[in-house]
Amino acid sequence: MLKPNHNYSNLKDSYLFYRIAQKTRAYVESHDGAYLYRLGIGDVSLPLCDEVIKALHEAVDDQAKKETFHGYMPECGAHFFRTAVADYYRHRGVKIDTEEVFVSSGASDELGDILDLFDKSDDALVLEPAYPAYVDANVMAGRKIVHLASGKENGFLPLPDESVKAQILYICSPNNPTGAVFTKEKLKKWVDYANATGAVILFDAAYEAFIEDGSLPHSIFEIEGARTCAIEICSLSKTAGFTGTRCGYTVIPKELEREGMNLNAMWVRNRTTKTNGVSYILQKGAAAVFTEEGQKQIKANIAVYKRNAKYLTDALDKLGIWYCGGKNAPYIWMKCPRGMSSWEFFDFLLEKAQIVGTPGEGFGSCGEGYFRFSTFGSPEDTKIAADKLVELLSE
Ligand code: PLP
Repeated sequence: MLKPNHNYSNLKDSYLFYRIAQKTRAYVESHDGAYLYRLGIGDVSLPLCDEVIKALHEAVDDQAKKETFHGYMPECGAHFFRTAVADYYRHRGVKIDTEEVFVSSGASDELGDILDLFDKSDDALVLEPAYPAYVDANVMAGRKIVHLASGKENGFLPLPDESVKAQILYICSPNNPTGAVFTKEKLKKWVDYANATGAVILFDAAYEAFIEDGSLPHSIFEIEGARTCAIEICSLSKTAGFTGTRCGYTVIPKELEREGMNLNAMWVRNRTTKTNGVSYILQKGAAAVFTEEGQKQIKANIAVYKRNAKYLTDALDKLGIWYCGGKNAPYIWMKCPRGMSSWEFFDFLLEKAQIVGTPGEGFGSCGEGYFRFSTFGSPEDTKIAADKLVELLSE
C-alpha cells in the first residue's frame, strides 16, 4: 500500500478566500445582483505593458524560423534574462553575478520548491500576519513552524530576540498583508541574527517595485552581511502584471554556505534535475520589463495602483483611522473601527457599503481586529469605495 504524505492532513482549510467568496455570493443573491466594490483582490487588473507585448510577439516569431528557433532553455535561466536582472540590481548599487540569478515561474513556485535545500529538522519562522503559503508549504513538508506575532506597537515589523529559534526565516518586505516595509536598520538586525545563528533568510521581495521612499531597501542584498545568510525570491506578477503570464527570479549568492554545502551550487543541481527552465518566449517578455522603456511603462501602471492607494489612505486620514502600508506597498492594513473584529467589519462593509475587503484574522491570529484593502482594483470603483467609507464611518 502506498503511504501518502500524511502531513497534508495537518493543513488548515484555506477558509479565508472561500468564506469571503461564500459571503459575497450570498449577499449578491439576496440583494438582486447588487454591484460590489472589490478591494479584496490580490490580482492585478491592468494588462501587460506594450514593451513586454512587443517582446513576446517577437519571441513567438523567433520560434517560427529555423535560424532563431529555441529548444530547451538553460534550466537556471537564459543568459539574456539573468543579465537583465543582474543589471537591474546593479543600477540600484547591488552587485550580483549573473550566475546568482535563477529564472522561475513565479514566487509561489519558488517559495515551495526552495525548501528542497533544507533539512526536515530545520524549523521555519513566520513573521505574522503573513502570506499563507509560507506556513502551508512547510506543513506539507512536515516542518515545525514558529510563529512570531507582530502588532501596531512595532508597526507590524517584528525584530528577532532570544525567544526566536528557527533556521528558516521568512521575511516579506514590502509586506503582504500589512504593507509595512523594513528599514535598512531593522533588516540589518535580522541579517545579523541569521549570520550569528546560522539561519537562512528567505526574503520575499514580490512588492519591491512599489517602494517610493528612497531610503527603504528593495533588496536584502542592500544590507551588509546578507550575502552569507539570505536568498531573495522575486516575482514579476505585481511588478509588471505577470500573474497570468508567470515569470520571476531568485537570487542565491555564491557565498551562501551551511555545513560545507554551497546553496547556490545545490540550487543549480536542483534546477537541472527538477525543471527544464522557463520558456524562451516568456523569458524574452520578462527581460523587456528591465529595459529603459519597459521600466517607464511598468511604473506608469504602478502609478495607477498608487493613485488607488491614495484615495483610500486619504479617506482613512480623514476618518482618523490607524493604518499602515499604502505608500510603499499595494496593500493598506487598517485597524477596524468601533472595536469591531475583522469579520464583523467585513460584514458591516459588505452590508452597508457593498465593499469587499479581506479580514486580517485570515493572515494569522494577530491580524484579528485589522482589515486589508488591496489597491489592484479599478480606479473608478476604488474612488467610489473610498468616498463610501468616509460617508459610512463619519455617521
Ligand atoms: N509572495 C507574496 C508576498 C505574494 O503576495 C504573492 C502573491 O500574491 C506571491 C509571493 C506569489 O506571487 P507569484 O504570482 O509570483 O507566484
